[in-house]
Amino acid sequence: MLASGGLSIPKLGATGFAHDTARRFGLKLTQMRPALVPLTFGGDDLALMQPLAGLGLEVIARCGKRAFREGMLFTHRGLSGPAILQISSVWREGLAITLDLLPGVDATAFLLGRKAARPNAELRTILAEILPQRLAQALVQTGFAPVAIGNQPDRALRRLAEQLKTWRLTPTGTEGYAKAEVTLGGVDTTGLSSRDMRANDLPGLFVIGEAVDVTGWLGGYNFQWAWSSGWCAGMAV
Ligand SMILES: Cc1cc2nc3c(=O)[nH]c(=O)nc-3n(C[C@H](O)[C@H](O)[C@H](O)COP(=O)(O)OP(=O)(O)OC[C@H]3O[C@@H](n4cnc5c(N)ncnc54)[C@H](O)[C@@H]3O)c2cc1C
Repeated sequence: MLASGGLSIPKLGATGFAHDTARRFGLKLTQMRPALVPLTFGGDDLALMQPLAGLGLEVIARCGKRAFREGMLFTHRGLSGPAILQISSVWREGLAITLDLLPGVDATAFLLGRKAARPNAELRTILAEILPQRLAQALVQTGFAPVAIGNQPDRALRRLAEQLKTWRLTPTGTEGYAKAEVTLGGVDTTGLSSRDMRANDLPGLFVIGEAVDVTGWLGGYNFQWAWSSGWCAGMAV
């Protein structure tokens, strides 16, 4: 019974033992990569993120058709937190992600409304009404957002609202297996019985848990899979 998990967190004892052994017995493996993992950034994006390390807020992170509304955390290397870990399972090198920094808020209506109500207010003060203060300050300082609200044409505020709702970023990579909660990919499920995890062509060999190409979202699904597949295999031995 191959139950030695995936490649995530070598410091905790992860090895490729299950995969190597499965391969030796002729089982196919799908491509593997770190998942549920923080994303890294470079250049201007990282320059904005680094000073905000430790700051969290709720966002909607999107990549392709997937979207996750959860917490996000700025880190010294980029972004983490549940929304980012989730989207990392979908993200691939070269793809952009987009962040809605104001989930559930009509940013255009908010900015135009505040311009009418408080034309002399600084934009960072206005943004700090709906974003963490340090983030509002950083967005204004880095030129992401203009400085004063009252003298901004409506079209500039609409553009800013659009940016806050769809902040487009291209990660440079992930923090790798050292920080990944799971391994995406593994022993190909087509070579295993879905009843009891037995290898189709080698009835004495079973593969369960993280070693198999089954990956869940955050929320206990990976533990559930490890326990359930182990139980099914155990009952069949
Ligand atoms: C930091 C972190 C947080 C996580 N949080 C969650 C969560 O909240 N919810 C969730 O569902 N999942 C979570 N996961 C994922 C979850 O832990 C795994 O999916 C699950 O533990 C996999 O179970 P497993 O028994 O297949 O493998 P593992 O739990 O990895 O167990 C495999 C064991 O085999 C040992 N081993 C490896 N190679 C060898 C070898 N050559 N010889 C002998 N022993 C070996 C390893 O040391 C390990 O003890 C998290 C993972 C990490 C790393």
